[in-house]
Amino acid sequence: MSSEKLTKAIDLQHHLSESSRTRETSPLKGLQKFMRPGVTVLAGGLPSPAYFPFSNIGGQALVPESFPINAAESSSSSMSWLWNMFGSSSKKEKTQTINIPKYPNTPGELSLSTVLQYTPSVANPQLQKIMYEFSTKVFKPAYSDYTTLVHTGNTDGWNRIVVTLCNKGEAILASEWTYPSALHTVIPYGNTIASVAIDSQGMRADSLRDVLQNWDEKARGAPRPHLAYIVPIGQNPTGATMGLARKKEIYDVCVEFDVIICEDDPYYFLQEGKYIPPAERKRVAKQTALVKKAAAAEDSEHFIANLEQSFLKIDYQGRVIRMDTYSKTVAPGARLGWFTCNPMFAERLERQGETTTQAPCGFGQSLVTQLMLDWKYEGYIRWLRALGSQYEVRRDFLIDSLTEEFDMQANYAHTGIWQGTEYYSATPKAHLMSEKYGNKTMFSFVPPTAGMFVWLKVHLENCPRTVREDEEPLEIQLWAAVAEAGVLLGPGWIFSTNTVSGGPLFSEHGHFRIAFSDAQPEVMKSGMKTFAKVMREFFEQ
Ligand code: PMP
Ligand code: PLP
Repeated sequence: MSSEKLTKAIDLQHHLSESSRTRETSPLKGLQKFMRPGVTVLAGGLPSPAYFPFSNIGGQALVPESFPINAAESSSSSMSWLWNMFGSSSKKEKTQTINIPKYPNTPGELSLSTVLQYTPSVANPQLQKIMYEFSTKVFKPAYSDYTTLVHTGNTDGWNRIVVTLCNKGEAILASEWTYPSALHTVIPYGNTIASVAIDSQGMRADSLRDVLQNWDEKARGAPRPHLAYIVPIGQNPTGATMGLARKKEIYDVCVEFDVIICEDDPYYFLQEGKYIPPAERKRVAKQTALVKKAAAAEDSEHFIANLEQSFLKIDYQGRVIRMDTYSKTVAPGARLGWFTCNPMFAERLERQGETTTQAPCGFGQSLVTQLMLDWKYEGYIRWLRALGSQYEVRRDFLIDSLTEEFDMQANYAHTGIWQGTEYYSATPKAHLMSEKYGNKTMFSFVPPTAGMFVWLKVHLENCPRTVREDEEPLEIQLWAAVAEAGVLLGPGWIFSTNTVSGGPLFSEHGHFRIAFSDAQPEVMKSGMKTFAKVMREFFEQ
Protein backbone atom coordinates (compact mmCIF):
# COMPACT_ATOMS: atom_id res chain seq x y z
CA MET A 1 0.00 0.00 0.00
CA SER A 2 1.33 3.44 -0.80
CA SER A 3 1.48 5.85 2.11
CA GLU A 4 -1.05 8.24 0.43
CA LYS A 5 -3.81 5.70 0.99
CA LEU A 6 -2.98 5.27 4.66
CA THR A 7 -4.59 7.36 7.38
CA LYS A 8 -2.80 9.15 10.20
CA ALA A 9 -2.44 7.79 13.73
CA ILE A 10 -5.46 8.40 15.96
CA ASP A 11 -5.24 10.70 18.96
CA LEU A 12 -3.75 8.70 21.83
CA GLN A 13 -2.73 11.55 24.13
CA HIS A 14 -4.88 10.23 26.97
CA HIS A 15 -2.26 7.47 27.39
CA LEU A 16 0.46 9.88 28.51
CA SER A 17 1.54 9.75 32.14
CA GLU A 18 1.22 12.76 34.40
CA SER A 19 4.99 13.20 34.44
CA SER A 20 5.13 13.11 30.66
CA ARG A 21 2.40 15.75 30.34
CA THR A 22 4.36 18.11 32.56
CA ARG A 23 7.66 17.55 30.77
CA GLU A 24 8.72 20.63 28.85
CA THR A 25 11.41 21.06 26.25
CA SER A 26 14.77 21.55 27.93
CA PRO A 27 15.26 25.30 27.45
CA LEU A 28 18.84 24.94 26.23
CA LYS A 29 17.98 22.04 23.89
CA GLY A 30 15.09 24.18 22.64
CA LEU A 31 17.56 26.72 21.32
CA GLN A 32 19.07 24.18 18.97
CA LYS A 33 16.39 24.67 16.35
CA PHE A 34 17.81 28.19 15.81
CA MET A 35 21.33 26.85 15.18
CA ARG A 36 21.38 27.14 11.42
CA PRO A 37 24.53 27.63 9.37
CA GLY A 38 25.52 31.33 9.43
CA VAL A 39 24.02 32.01 12.89
CA THR A 40 26.48 33.27 15.50
CA VAL A 41 25.90 30.92 18.42
CA LEU A 42 26.94 32.31 21.79
CA ALA A 43 24.03 30.83 23.74
CA GLY A 44 24.95 27.17 24.26
CA GLY A 45 27.65 25.75 26.53
CA LEU A 46 29.28 23.71 23.81
CA PRO A 47 32.90 22.65 24.18
CA SER A 48 34.95 23.53 21.10
CA PRO A 49 35.58 20.50 18.85
CA ALA A 50 39.17 21.73 18.69
CA TYR A 51 39.53 20.18 22.14
CA PHE A 52 38.11 16.78 21.17
CA PRO A 53 41.28 14.67 21.25
CA PHE A 54 40.13 12.33 18.45
CA SER A 55 41.16 13.47 14.95
CA ASN A 56 39.42 10.48 13.45
CA ILE A 57 37.99 7.13 14.53
CA GLY A 58 37.41 3.97 12.56
CA GLY A 59 38.85 0.55 11.95
CA GLN A 60 38.29 -2.60 9.97
CA ALA A 61 34.77 -3.99 9.62
CA LEU A 62 33.68 -7.29 8.10
CA VAL A 63 32.17 -7.11 4.63
CA PRO A 64 28.40 -7.90 4.44
CA GLU A 65 29.10 -11.19 2.58
CA SER A 66 31.29 -12.55 5.39
CA PHE A 67 28.91 -15.38 6.25
CA PRO A 68 27.05 -17.65 3.81
CA ILE A 69 23.33 -17.17 3.28
CA ASN A 70 22.68 -20.88 3.78
CA ALA A 71 25.22 -21.78 6.45
CA ALA A 72 23.86 -25.28 7.00
CA GLU A 73 24.40 -26.23 3.38
CA SER A 74 27.79 -24.58 3.12
CA SER A 75 28.93 -26.93 5.85
CA SER A 76 28.06 -30.24 4.23
CA SER A 77 31.44 -31.71 3.37
CA SER A 78 33.86 -29.74 5.50
CA MET A 79 33.81 -28.10 8.88
CA SER A 80 34.10 -24.69 7.27
CA TRP A 81 30.85 -23.61 8.84
CA LEU A 82 32.53 -23.87 12.21
CA TRP A 83 34.92 -21.15 11.17
CA ASN A 84 32.04 -19.10 9.97
CA MET A 85 30.03 -19.74 13.07
CA PHE A 86 32.53 -19.55 15.80
CA GLY A 87 35.48 -17.66 14.40
CA SER A 88 38.91 -19.09 13.83
CA SER A 89 42.35 -17.65 13.37
CA SER A 90 42.76 -19.93 10.37
CA LYS A 91 39.96 -18.20 8.50
CA LYS A 92 40.99 -15.07 6.67
CA GLU A 93 38.42 -12.39 7.28
CA LYS A 94 37.65 -9.99 4.48
CA THR A 95 37.31 -6.49 5.84
CA GLN A 96 36.64 -2.95 4.73
CA THR A 97 37.92 0.26 6.24
CA ILE A 98 35.63 2.50 8.27
CA ASN A 99 36.85 6.02 8.87
CA ILE A 100 35.15 9.04 10.43
CA PRO A 101 37.28 12.21 10.46
CA LYS A 102 36.73 15.16 12.77
CA TYR A 103 36.64 17.52 9.81
CA PRO A 104 35.70 15.71 6.57
CA ASN A 105 36.67 17.17 3.21
CA THR A 106 33.30 16.56 1.60
CA PRO A 107 30.20 18.31 2.95
CA GLY A 108 27.44 15.94 4.09
CA GLU A 109 29.90 13.30 5.30
CA LEU A 110 29.75 12.13 8.88
CA SER A 111 31.89 14.43 11.00
CA LEU A 112 33.27 13.75 14.46
CA SER A 113 33.13 17.46 15.23
CA THR A 114 29.32 17.25 15.11
CA VAL A 115 28.64 13.63 16.17
CA LEU A 116 30.74 14.07 19.33
CA GLN A 117 29.12 17.44 20.09
CA TYR A 118 25.98 18.06 22.15
CA THR A 119 23.08 17.51 19.80
CA PRO A 120 19.30 17.29 20.16
CA SER A 121 18.29 13.91 21.60
CA VAL A 122 17.77 12.50 18.13
CA ALA A 123 20.19 10.66 15.86
CA ASN A 124 22.66 12.34 13.54
CA PRO A 125 20.79 13.14 10.29
CA GLN A 126 22.38 10.26 8.37
CA LEU A 127 21.34 7.69 10.98
CA GLN A 128 17.91 9.26 11.30
CA LYS A 129 17.42 8.70 7.56
CA ILE A 130 18.74 5.13 7.75
CA MET A 131 16.40 4.20 10.62
CA TYR A 132 13.34 5.75 8.99
CA GLU A 133 13.99 4.13 5.62
CA PHE A 134 14.68 0.78 7.28
CA SER A 135 11.40 0.79 9.24
CA THR A 136 9.53 1.88 6.12
CA LYS A 137 10.95 -0.82 3.87
CA VAL A 138 11.08 -3.70 6.35
CA PHE A 139 8.14 -3.18 8.74
CA LYS A 140 5.76 -1.25 6.46
CA PRO A 141 3.61 0.50 9.10
CA ALA A 142 -0.11 0.62 8.33
CA TYR A 143 -0.56 4.37 8.99
CA SER A 144 1.04 7.33 7.32
CA ASP A 145 2.64 9.62 9.92
CA TYR A 146 4.83 7.15 11.80
CA THR A 147 8.28 8.33 12.73
CA THR A 148 11.51 6.97 14.15
CA LEU A 149 13.52 8.13 17.15
CA VAL A 150 16.93 6.91 18.27
CA HIS A 151 17.44 5.38 21.73
CA THR A 152 20.28 3.83 23.69
CA GLY A 153 19.17 0.21 23.23
CA ASN A 154 15.82 -1.41 23.95
CA THR A 155 16.50 -1.38 27.70
CA ASP A 156 16.58 2.41 27.62
CA GLY A 157 13.67 2.40 25.20
CA TRP A 158 11.42 0.36 27.48
CA ASN A 159 12.31 2.49 30.49
CA ARG A 160 11.33 5.60 28.53
CA ILE A 161 8.05 4.04 27.42
CA VAL A 162 7.09 3.13 30.99
CA VAL A 163 7.86 6.63 32.29
CA THR A 164 6.09 8.27 29.35
CA LEU A 165 2.92 6.20 29.53
CA CYS A 166 2.46 4.94 33.08
CA ASN A 167 1.58 6.55 36.35
CA LYS A 168 2.63 5.06 39.66
CA GLY A 169 0.34 2.23 40.73
CA GLU A 170 -0.71 1.18 37.24
CA ALA A 171 -0.45 -2.41 36.03
CA ILE A 172 1.33 -3.45 32.82
CA LEU A 173 0.38 -6.50 30.75
CA ALA A 174 3.17 -9.02 30.14
CA SER A 175 3.50 -12.71 29.28
CA GLU A 176 3.64 -15.08 32.24
CA TRP A 177 7.27 -15.76 31.33
CA THR A 178 9.08 -12.51 30.54
CA TYR A 179 12.52 -10.98 30.15
CA PRO A 180 13.39 -10.10 33.80
CA SER A 181 15.02 -6.76 33.05
CA ALA A 182 11.72 -5.56 31.56
CA LEU A 183 9.91 -6.52 34.77
CA HIS A 184 12.51 -4.89 36.98
CA THR A 185 12.25 -1.67 35.00
CA VAL A 186 8.62 -1.43 35.97
CA ILE A 187 8.53 -2.43 39.62
CA PRO A 188 10.65 0.36 41.18
CA TYR A 189 8.30 2.93 39.62
CA GLY A 190 5.51 1.50 41.75
CA ASN A 191 3.88 -0.36 38.87
CA THR A 192 2.72 -3.96 38.87
CA ILE A 193 2.50 -6.73 36.29
CA ALA A 194 -0.73 -8.21 34.97
CA SER A 195 0.29 -11.66 33.81
CA VAL A 196 -1.09 -13.08 30.55
CA ALA A 197 -0.93 -16.80 29.67
CA ILE A 198 1.22 -17.97 26.75
CA ASP A 199 1.32 -20.90 24.37
CA SER A 200 3.80 -21.90 21.69
CA GLN A 201 3.16 -18.58 19.88
CA GLY A 202 3.70 -16.42 22.94
CA MET A 203 0.99 -14.22 24.47
CA ARG A 204 -2.49 -15.68 24.05
CA ALA A 205 -5.19 -13.37 22.75
CA ASP A 206 -7.95 -15.16 24.69
CA SER A 207 -6.03 -14.80 27.94
CA LEU A 208 -5.36 -11.12 27.19
CA ARG A 209 -9.06 -10.55 26.61
CA ASP A 210 -9.91 -12.47 29.76
CA VAL A 211 -7.55 -10.35 31.89
CA LEU A 212 -8.89 -7.08 30.45
CA GLN A 213 -12.56 -8.03 30.41
CA ASN A 214 -12.59 -9.31 33.96
CA TRP A 215 -10.32 -6.66 35.42
CA ASP A 216 -11.34 -5.91 38.98
CA GLU A 217 -9.88 -2.53 39.85
CA LYS A 218 -10.51 -2.94 43.57
CA ALA A 219 -9.09 -6.45 43.85
CA ARG A 220 -6.11 -5.58 41.66
CA GLY A 221 -5.48 -2.21 43.28
CA ALA A 222 -4.91 -0.66 39.85
CA PRO A 223 -7.01 0.64 36.96
CA ARG A 224 -7.37 -1.60 33.89
CA PRO A 225 -3.95 -1.75 32.16
CA HIS A 226 -3.37 0.29 29.01
CA LEU A 227 0.15 -0.92 28.10
CA ALA A 228 1.20 -4.40 26.96
CA TYR A 229 4.84 -5.48 26.78
CA ILE A 230 5.35 -8.09 24.06
CA VAL A 231 8.51 -9.76 22.67
CA PRO A 232 6.96 -11.33 19.58
CA ILE A 233 9.86 -13.12 17.86
CA GLY A 234 12.09 -15.67 19.61
CA GLN A 235 10.67 -14.51 22.92
CA ASN A 236 13.01 -14.32 25.88
CA PRO A 237 12.94 -16.81 27.63
CA THR A 238 10.51 -19.17 25.84
CA GLY A 239 11.81 -18.77 22.28
CA ALA A 240 8.18 -18.48 21.11
CA THR A 241 7.40 -16.69 17.84
CA MET A 242 4.07 -15.04 17.17
CA GLY A 243 2.55 -15.40 13.72
CA LEU A 244 0.65 -12.61 12.00
CA ALA A 245 -2.78 -14.15 12.71
CA ARG A 246 -2.08 -14.14 16.46
CA LYS A 247 -0.74 -10.60 16.21
CA LYS A 248 -4.00 -9.53 14.56
CA GLU A 249 -6.03 -11.14 17.35
CA ILE A 250 -3.92 -9.42 20.00
CA TYR A 251 -4.09 -6.11 18.14
CA ASP A 252 -7.90 -6.31 17.90
CA VAL A 253 -8.16 -6.92 21.64
CA CYS A 254 -5.88 -3.92 22.21
CA VAL A 255 -8.08 -1.74 19.98
CA GLU A 256 -11.18 -2.91 21.84
CA PHE A 257 -9.71 -2.19 25.28
CA ASP A 258 -7.59 0.79 24.19
CA VAL A 259 -4.20 -0.73 25.02
CA ILE A 260 -0.83 0.46 23.68
CA ILE A 261 1.54 -2.30 22.53
CA CYS A 262 5.26 -2.11 23.16
CA GLU A 263 6.83 -4.43 20.59
CA ASP A 264 10.31 -5.18 21.95
CA ASP A 265 11.82 -7.13 19.06
CA PRO A 266 15.59 -7.66 19.42
CA TYR A 267 15.48 -11.13 17.83
CA TYR A 268 13.54 -10.14 14.71
CA PHE A 269 16.37 -10.99 12.32
CA LEU A 270 17.28 -14.22 14.09
CA GLN A 271 14.46 -16.07 12.32
CA GLU A 272 15.72 -19.60 11.89
CA GLY A 273 12.75 -21.45 10.43
CA LYS A 274 11.38 -24.78 11.51
CA TYR A 275 13.65 -27.31 13.23
CA ILE A 276 14.05 -30.42 11.09
CA PRO A 277 15.63 -33.49 12.74
CA PRO A 278 19.00 -34.49 11.20
CA ALA A 279 17.78 -37.60 9.36
CA GLU A 280 15.04 -35.59 7.70
CA ARG A 281 17.27 -32.56 7.27
CA LYS A 282 19.55 -34.22 4.74
CA ARG A 283 16.65 -35.38 2.62
CA VAL A 284 14.87 -32.06 2.85
CA ALA A 285 18.12 -30.26 2.09
CA LYS A 286 18.58 -32.31 -1.05
CA GLN A 287 15.02 -31.80 -2.15
CA THR A 288 15.14 -28.12 -1.53
CA ALA A 289 18.69 -27.48 -2.74
CA LEU A 290 17.44 -26.00 -5.97
CA VAL A 291 14.74 -23.99 -4.27
CA LYS A 292 17.26 -22.64 -1.79
CA LYS A 293 19.71 -21.82 -4.52
CA ALA A 294 17.01 -19.80 -6.16
CA ALA A 295 16.11 -18.24 -2.81
CA ALA A 296 19.74 -17.24 -2.23
CA ALA A 297 19.65 -15.33 -5.46
CA GLU A 298 16.46 -13.55 -4.49
CA ASP A 299 16.58 -9.91 -3.62
CA SER A 300 16.07 -8.34 -0.21
CA GLU A 301 12.34 -7.80 -0.97
CA HIS A 302 11.76 -11.56 -1.08
CA PHE A 303 13.79 -12.11 2.06
CA ILE A 304 11.79 -9.52 3.95
CA ALA A 305 8.47 -10.77 2.63
CA ASN A 306 9.29 -14.23 4.01
CA LEU A 307 9.99 -13.02 7.54
CA GLU A 308 7.34 -12.91 10.24
CA GLN A 309 5.67 -9.50 10.12
CA SER A 310 5.92 -6.78 12.73
CA PHE A 311 2.89 -5.49 14.67
CA LEU A 312 3.49 -2.27 12.69
CA LYS A 313 2.22 -3.99 9.55
CA ILE A 314 -1.28 -4.15 11.07
CA ASP A 315 -1.10 -1.02 13.23
CA TYR A 316 -3.62 1.20 11.42
CA GLN A 317 -4.18 3.37 14.52
CA GLY A 318 -0.58 4.09 15.59
CA ARG A 319 -0.91 2.30 18.94
CA VAL A 320 2.28 0.22 18.60
CA ILE A 321 5.63 1.46 19.83
CA ARG A 322 8.15 -0.79 18.16
CA MET A 323 11.72 -1.02 19.46
CA ASP A 324 14.64 -2.15 17.32
CA THR A 325 18.17 -2.53 18.59
CA TYR A 326 21.57 -3.04 17.01
CA SER A 327 22.52 -5.20 20.03
CA LYS A 328 21.95 -8.53 18.28
CA THR A 329 22.76 -7.46 14.73
CA VAL A 330 25.92 -5.39 15.31
CA ALA A 331 26.96 -5.57 18.99
CA PRO A 332 25.32 -4.98 22.39
CA GLY A 333 28.05 -2.50 23.30
CA ALA A 334 26.90 -0.19 20.50
CA ARG A 335 24.03 0.78 22.84
CA LEU A 336 21.98 1.93 19.91
CA GLY A 337 18.48 1.34 18.65
CA TRP A 338 15.29 3.14 17.71
CA PHE A 339 11.57 3.50 18.25
CA THR A 340 9.08 3.42 15.40
CA CYS A 341 5.82 4.98 16.58
CA ASN A 342 3.33 7.78 16.14
CA PRO A 343 4.79 11.33 16.16
CA MET A 344 3.05 12.34 19.40
CA PHE A 345 4.61 9.47 21.37
CA ALA A 346 7.96 10.06 19.63
CA GLU A 347 7.99 13.70 20.69
CA ARG A 348 7.24 12.80 24.33
CA LEU A 349 9.85 10.01 24.31
CA GLU A 350 12.37 12.47 22.90
CA ARG A 351 11.61 14.99 25.68
CA GLN A 352 12.02 12.19 28.22
CA GLY A 353 15.40 11.26 26.73
CA GLU A 354 16.61 14.86 26.95
CA THR A 355 16.89 14.61 30.72
CA THR A 356 18.36 11.12 30.92
CA THR A 357 20.52 9.56 28.21
CA GLN A 358 20.35 12.53 25.78
CA ALA A 359 21.54 11.33 22.36
CA PRO A 360 23.29 7.93 22.33
CA CYS A 361 27.09 8.00 22.65
CA GLY A 362 28.64 9.75 19.64
CA PHE A 363 31.37 7.13 19.21
CA GLY A 364 28.93 4.25 18.90
CA GLN A 365 26.52 6.30 16.82
CA SER A 366 29.18 7.37 14.34
CA LEU A 367 30.73 3.90 13.94
CA VAL A 368 27.39 2.19 13.38
CA THR A 369 26.19 4.99 11.08
CA GLN A 370 29.33 4.83 8.97
CA LEU A 371 29.08 1.03 8.80
CA MET A 372 25.49 1.35 7.54
CA LEU A 373 26.50 4.06 5.06
CA ASP A 374 29.35 1.92 3.72
CA TRP A 375 27.38 -1.36 3.66
CA LYS A 376 24.28 0.40 2.31
CA TYR A 377 20.78 -0.98 2.84
CA GLU A 378 21.33 -3.99 0.57
CA GLY A 379 24.60 -4.83 2.32
CA TYR A 380 23.01 -4.70 5.77
CA ILE A 381 20.14 -6.92 4.60
CA ARG A 382 22.73 -9.34 3.19
CA TRP A 383 24.41 -9.36 6.61
CA LEU A 384 21.08 -10.01 8.37
CA ARG A 385 20.17 -12.85 6.02
CA ALA A 386 23.38 -14.64 6.90
CA LEU A 387 22.95 -13.92 10.60
CA GLY A 388 19.61 -15.76 10.74
CA SER A 389 21.24 -18.68 8.98
CA GLN A 390 24.13 -18.75 11.48
CA TYR A 391 21.67 -18.97 14.35
CA GLU A 392 19.76 -21.69 12.51
CA VAL A 393 22.90 -23.85 12.47
CA ARG A 394 23.51 -23.12 16.15
CA ARG A 395 19.90 -23.93 17.06
CA ASP A 396 20.08 -27.18 15.12
CA PHE A 397 23.40 -28.10 16.72
CA LEU A 398 22.09 -27.62 20.24
CA ILE A 399 18.82 -29.47 19.66
CA ASP A 400 20.63 -32.29 17.84
CA SER A 401 23.04 -32.62 20.79
CA LEU A 402 20.23 -32.58 23.33
CA THR A 403 18.04 -35.09 21.51
CA GLU A 404 20.98 -37.39 20.79
CA GLU A 405 21.77 -37.57 24.49
CA PHE A 406 18.25 -38.78 25.18
CA ASP A 407 17.95 -41.07 22.16
CA MET A 408 15.13 -38.89 20.93
CA GLN A 409 16.20 -38.85 17.29
CA ALA A 410 15.53 -42.55 16.75
CA ASN A 411 11.86 -42.26 15.86
CA TYR A 412 11.84 -38.83 14.32
CA ALA A 413 11.80 -37.44 17.81
CA HIS A 414 8.65 -35.38 17.78
CA THR A 415 6.19 -36.81 20.18
CA GLY A 416 3.17 -34.64 20.24
CA ILE A 417 1.31 -31.52 19.34
CA TRP A 418 0.90 -28.61 21.72
CA GLN A 419 -1.28 -25.71 20.63
CA GLY A 420 -0.71 -26.64 17.02
CA THR A 421 3.05 -26.96 17.32
CA GLU A 422 5.11 -30.11 17.43
CA TYR A 423 6.89 -30.64 20.66
CA TYR A 424 9.67 -32.97 21.63
CA SER A 425 9.89 -34.87 24.83
CA ALA A 426 12.27 -37.24 26.51
CA THR A 427 10.78 -40.08 28.45
CA PRO A 428 12.65 -42.08 31.06
CA LYS A 429 12.10 -45.23 28.97
CA ALA A 430 13.71 -43.68 25.94
CA HIS A 431 17.05 -43.78 27.67
CA LEU A 432 16.69 -47.00 29.60
CA MET A 433 15.46 -45.51 32.81
CA SER A 434 13.93 -47.70 35.44
CA GLU A 435 10.73 -49.30 34.19
CA LYS A 436 9.27 -48.60 37.58
CA TYR A 437 8.27 -45.10 36.54
CA GLY A 438 6.89 -46.18 33.23
CA ASN A 439 7.10 -44.23 30.06
CA LYS A 440 6.55 -40.85 31.63
CA THR A 441 7.82 -37.61 30.17
CA MET A 442 10.94 -36.20 31.76
CA PHE A 443 11.09 -32.95 29.84
CA SER A 444 9.60 -31.44 26.72
CA PHE A 445 10.20 -28.44 24.52
CA VAL A 446 8.96 -26.74 21.40
CA PRO A 447 11.92 -26.20 19.06
CA PRO A 448 12.18 -22.43 18.60
CA THR A 449 11.91 -20.96 15.12
CA ALA A 450 13.74 -17.77 16.11
CA GLY A 451 15.99 -16.20 18.72
CA MET A 452 18.67 -17.63 20.95
CA PHE A 453 16.92 -19.93 23.40
CA VAL A 454 15.51 -23.40 23.91
CA TRP A 455 13.00 -23.43 26.75
CA LEU A 456 12.74 -26.79 28.49
CA LYS A 457 9.73 -27.73 30.51
CA VAL A 458 10.86 -30.24 33.13
CA HIS A 459 8.09 -32.59 34.18
CA LEU A 460 8.97 -32.71 37.83
CA GLU A 461 5.61 -34.29 38.54
CA ASN A 462 7.12 -37.47 37.06
CA CYS A 463 10.20 -37.31 39.27
CA PRO A 464 10.04 -39.91 42.06
CA ARG A 465 11.91 -37.71 44.58
CA THR A 466 10.10 -36.33 47.57
CA VAL A 467 10.98 -32.95 49.03
CA ARG A 468 11.35 -32.47 52.76
CA GLU A 469 10.15 -29.25 54.42
CA ASP A 470 13.71 -28.07 55.02
CA GLU A 471 14.78 -28.72 51.41
CA GLU A 472 14.77 -26.39 48.42
CA PRO A 473 12.05 -27.00 45.80
CA LEU A 474 12.85 -29.75 43.27
CA GLU A 475 13.43 -27.24 40.49
CA ILE A 476 16.18 -25.48 42.43
CA GLN A 477 17.70 -28.80 43.48
CA LEU A 478 17.85 -29.98 39.87
CA TRP A 479 19.19 -26.66 38.57
CA ALA A 480 21.86 -26.66 41.32
CA ALA A 481 22.83 -30.27 40.51
CA VAL A 482 23.34 -29.32 36.85
CA ALA A 483 25.29 -26.20 37.90
CA GLU A 484 27.46 -28.22 40.28
CA ALA A 485 28.23 -30.60 37.42
CA GLY A 486 29.58 -27.55 35.57
CA VAL A 487 26.69 -26.43 33.32
CA LEU A 488 24.95 -23.17 34.06
CA LEU A 489 21.42 -23.06 32.64
CA GLY A 490 19.01 -20.16 32.88
CA PRO A 491 16.85 -21.01 35.92
CA GLY A 492 13.22 -20.87 34.87
CA TRP A 493 11.79 -19.21 37.94
CA ILE A 494 13.73 -15.96 37.40
CA PHE A 495 11.63 -15.34 34.27
CA SER A 496 8.29 -15.79 35.98
CA THR A 497 6.10 -12.72 36.36
CA ASN A 498 5.42 -14.14 39.80
CA THR A 499 8.91 -12.98 40.81
CA VAL A 500 7.48 -9.47 40.86
CA SER A 501 3.81 -10.14 41.59
CA GLY A 502 4.40 -12.36 44.62
CA GLY A 503 2.68 -15.47 43.22
CA PRO A 504 4.12 -18.97 43.62
CA LEU A 505 7.47 -19.41 41.85
CA PHE A 506 7.43 -23.19 41.75
CA SER A 507 4.83 -25.54 40.38
CA GLU A 508 4.80 -29.15 39.27
CA HIS A 509 6.80 -28.12 36.19
CA GLY A 510 10.27 -26.68 36.25
CA HIS A 511 11.82 -24.69 33.38
CA PHE A 512 15.33 -24.13 32.09
CA ARG A 513 16.47 -21.67 29.43
CA ILE A 514 19.34 -22.98 27.28
CA ALA A 515 21.11 -20.41 25.08
CA PHE A 516 22.69 -21.55 21.83
CA SER A 517 23.90 -18.10 20.82
CA ASP A 518 27.48 -18.11 21.97
CA ALA A 519 29.04 -21.42 23.09
CA GLN A 520 31.52 -23.35 20.96
CA PRO A 521 30.05 -26.54 19.45
CA GLU A 522 32.13 -28.90 21.57
CA VAL A 523 31.07 -26.96 24.68
CA MET A 524 27.38 -27.21 23.73
CA LYS A 525 27.81 -30.92 23.11
CA SER A 526 29.59 -31.71 26.36
CA GLY A 527 27.14 -29.44 28.19
CA MET A 528 24.23 -31.51 26.92
CA LYS A 529 26.05 -34.73 27.88
CA THR A 530 26.48 -33.48 31.42
CA PHE A 531 22.91 -32.25 31.54
CA ALA A 532 21.61 -35.64 30.40
CA LYS A 533 23.69 -37.47 33.00
CA VAL A 534 22.44 -35.27 35.84
CA MET A 535 18.83 -35.52 34.64
CA ARG A 536 18.97 -39.30 34.56
CA GLU A 537 20.48 -39.51 38.01
CA PHE A 538 17.95 -37.05 39.35
CA PHE A 539 14.94 -38.85 37.91
CA GLU A 540 16.28 -42.27 38.90
CA GLN A 541 16.29 -41.66 42.63
N1 PMP B 1 25.20 19.15 34.65
C1 PMP B 1 25.63 20.43 34.42
C2 PMP B 1 25.69 21.40 35.57
C3 PMP B 1 26.00 20.80 33.10
O1 PMP B 1 26.40 22.05 32.85
C4 PMP B 1 25.94 19.83 32.04
C5 PMP B 1 26.38 20.10 30.64
N2 PMP B 1 26.09 21.36 30.17
C6 PMP B 1 25.47 18.56 32.33
C7 PMP B 1 25.12 18.23 33.65
C8 PMP B 1 25.32 17.49 31.27
O2 PMP B 1 26.34 16.58 31.43
P1 PMP B 1 26.48 15.30 30.51
O3 PMP B 1 26.92 15.78 29.14
O4 PMP B 1 27.57 14.50 31.18
O5 PMP B 1 25.15 14.61 30.51
N1 PLP C 1 14.62 -6.89 25.26
C1 PLP C 1 14.72 -8.22 25.25
C2 PLP C 1 13.50 -9.06 25.12
C3 PLP C 1 15.99 -8.83 25.37
O1 PLP C 1 16.09 -10.17 25.37
C4 PLP C 1 17.14 -8.01 25.50
C5 PLP C 1 18.49 -8.61 25.64
O2 PLP C 1 18.72 -9.66 26.13
C6 PLP C 1 16.97 -6.64 25.52
C7 PLP C 1 15.70 -6.10 25.39
C8 PLP C 1 18.12 -5.71 25.69
O3 PLP C 1 18.29 -4.98 24.53
P1 PLP C 1 19.33 -3.78 24.43
O4 PLP C 1 20.72 -4.35 24.40
O5 PLP C 1 18.95 -3.14 23.12
O6 PLP C 1 19.09 -2.88 25.58
